Amino acid sequence: MIRKIDHVGIAVKDIETHLVFYRDVLGLKFEGYEDLPDRGLRVAVFDVGGVRLELIQATSPDSTISTFIERRGEGLHHLAFGVDDAEGTLAHLIENGIRALDPAPRPGAGGAKVAFLHPHDTGRVLLEICEERPGGRRHE
Ligand code: ZN
Repeated sequence: MIRKIDHVGIAVKDIETHLVFYRDVLGLKFEGYEDLPDRGLRVAVFDVGGVRLELIQATSPDSTISTFIERRGEGLHHLAFGVDDAEGTLAHLIENGIRALDPAPRPGAGGAKVAFLHPHDTGRVLLEICEERPGGRRHE
């Protein structure tokens, strides 16, 4: 059901502040920025051995990242599992009593289907399931 860790998202106030560490000091492969204006987010994407690391910055005070940073400060935001079948995986989880923040997978950037699970049911980790569009790559 779960194929791999697809990506890890880190909430930051300002991407530029952290680029030197992740790109230059750690030497991670920087793949560029992705802007998601409809969700009020800007993302810097790194490739770490086939797993994406995303620095996620709010561009709108209404975004989920703004709320997260207000409440908890910067830090690890979510972990995303790559799946082949987002609908089937979500149905399986819901059948097993796991609460989903998204009642059905919704479109992410790049044509992916994504859904988030309630942290109270996952050991206080915000988990995302992510089905990438064939040939697609990015989402949120
Ligand atoms: Zn994600």
